[in-house]
Amino acid sequence: MAKKIVILGAGYGGVRAAKLLNKRLKKHDVEINLIDKNPYHTLMTELHEVAGGRVEEDAVKVELKRLFHRSKVNVIVDQIIDVDFKNRRLTSKEAIYEYDYLILNIGSEPAFFGVKGVQEYGFTLWSLEDAKNIRRHIEDMFEEASKTTSSEERRKLLTFVVAGAGFTGVEMAGELAEFKKELCYKYNIDEKEVRVMIVEALDTILPTLNEKLIKKARYYINKLNIELRTSSPIVEVSEDKVVLKNGDVINTKTLIWTCGVQGNSFASKLDITLGKRGRILTNEYMQSVDYDNVYVIGDITYFEEDQKPVLQVVETALQTADVAAENIVADIKGSEKKRFKSNYHGFMVSIGSRYCVATLMNKNVTGFFAMAAKHLVNMHYLFGIGGFLLIWDYFKHHFMDIKNNKSMVGGHFASKTPTFWLVPLRLFIGIMWLIEGLGKVKQGWLSPDKIFIVTASSVSGASQATEAVASASQAVSQAVPLLKQPPEFYQQFMHIFVEPFAYYFQVMVVLAEIGIGLALIAGLFTALASLASIFLCFNFILSAMAGKEILWYIFGAIALLGGAGRSFGLDYYVVPWFYKWWEKTFRGKLNFKSKKRGIYEKA
Ligand SMILES: Cc1cc2nc3c(=O)[nH]c(=O)nc-3n(C[C@H](O)[C@H](O)[C@H](O)COP(=O)(O)OP(=O)(O)OC[C@H]3O[C@@H](n4cnc5c(N)ncnc54)[C@H](O)[C@@H]3O)c2cc1C
Repeated sequence: MAKKIVILGAGYGGVRAAKLLNKRLKKHDVEINLIDKNPYHTLMTELHEVAGGRVEEDAVKVELKRLFHRSKVNVIVDQIIDVDFKNRRLTSKEAIYEYDYLILNIGSEPAFFGVKGVQEYGFTLWSLEDAKNIRRHIEDMFEEASKTTSSEERRKLLTFVVAGAGFTGVEMAGELAEFKKELCYKYNIDEKEVRVMIVEALDTILPTLNEKLIKKARYYINKLNIELRTSSPIVEVSEDKVVLKNGDVINTKTLIWTCGVQGNSFASKLDITLGKRGRILTNEYMQSVDYDNVYVIGDITYFEEDQKPVLQVVETALQTADVAAENIVADIKGSEKKRFKSNYHGFMVSIGSRYCVATLMNKNVTGFFAMAAKHLVNMHYLFGIGGFLLIWDYFKHHFMDIKNNKSMVGGHFASKTPTFWLVPLRLFIGIMWLIEGLGKVKQGWLSPDKIFIVTASSVSGASQATEAVASASQAVSQAVPLLKQPPEFYQQFMHIFVEPFAYYFQVMVVLAEIGIGLALIAGLFTALASLASIFLCFNFILSAMAGKEILWYIFGAIALLGGAGRSFGLDYYVVPWFYKWWEKTFRGKLNFKSKKRGIYEKA
């Protein structure tokens, strides 16, 4: 009978474990169920960007069906309310899920340390909903302030306090400092009226980082006009004020609490041994100390290395997931289990969209390079779980779709040209390709008796090549080729692959030219036609058949890549239809309360 593996929680750890199990157990009779209350995986490390209006919510949501279509992993959207470890069952309001192996990846939640009023009046930043709430609230504060005449009330509305100068607090304050500029402009408010503050109980900030980086972070914080108050524990929060231990009162309607985390309180309701701060105690194999078949990964894990609990960061989630998944595989295959040993590569803290401090492989990096590294690390993660398409999405969200120049390279990728300006260029290049292709037909390129295609690439020397070109290509007939002769590798390629099938390649070239021409004229699959155009041009250049005039085709085609067919072209209709079809066909369907083996609907 198939072994049933249930992974509860599609966080960083859960997704990683599911991917790994799918890979390792492809040929085994196992059933892998990944259960999460949301249909998407949340990129928690970027929540502050949503809260601060840098990116839209889509930027931090990766649909689970997208990650696991055509895999063994059965994605189930459901909220689990109990786990019966003895009978190996998870229960939700409407279903029961059986398991042979369980991986718990339920994450963590903010810790309030009993500070009065924080839970009622403070905002937290630990879910997408939290981030959206903060963003809405901040905008509301600006809107209200713009209508308020009382200067005292305005000051209160425009004071934003972030409690905690750890990673999350500093990142949140950095975003706020930038968001403020945008909102001041929108609501016609003087920037000097707005206060963004970080209030920290300790006498330092970012305690995980070294002194040099802390100094640099302070410099950036100062540069963004963020007020920093260290050694200032908050003792009480109410609707319109924050009270500090030394008796100071900050009048504000906004407190964002980022002062600490603890294990998801769901764990404390379960019959399982906890370590400190509500996290589940595990052994070095990432097994719960109570149940051999229950593995615990990510933020919820309590495991000590050198008398210190493992950090609640993404790398821990990924590394504990690897160990848990490998150990389940080892158990199924009867091989030896793996021990957990953390291996952290660094920490990165962004302060707004342009500043960042980081330690990478024990080296300090700041500014542009640190920010670039942060983006690269995010993209590397996304590539690992979803391939190039997720990298493309990331690039779009963080560079092409950003507003108000909020990226490390400003708004250079975000400036948009209406595509109708590209219509004349598209038609021009299309017509040129069509003329070129039809010219070749007239010359006899479709006749098996006349072989043109190998001539230019097989000859050497500029004059011979030009001569060959003259008969081969109308558009470049008078041109001096860019290359005197084809490079060695290209000659080899022509010799081995093209010459034996010269006629077929010749026909392909003609059809490609006519096809590209027609596609560009019609504005149909313009991006593909443009790519084909660039590809063909490079081939002409490498075969020493084309002069510098061909560069127009290349640069023109680059300009057409960004959706030039969507104005007065068929792509206007076809591309949306194609996306819908793609979604339906390849992205699969989610399983809401699946009735697969071992999953029962509750009566
Ligand atoms: C603003 C912010 C910035 C951060 N920046 C960084 C950073 O730069 N670098 C870094 O390393 N870390 C950072 N972190 C911490 C990092 O996000 C966490 O360490 C990481 O998310 C932990 O991953 P996880 O897989 O353990 O859990 P999570 O990612 O929290 O996932 C837990 C999952 O379990 C699901 N779940 C929980 N309970 C149930 C239930 N009962 N039923 C169904 N589903 C359930 C949830 O829906 C969620 O999808 C940041 C965190 C925040 C909030």
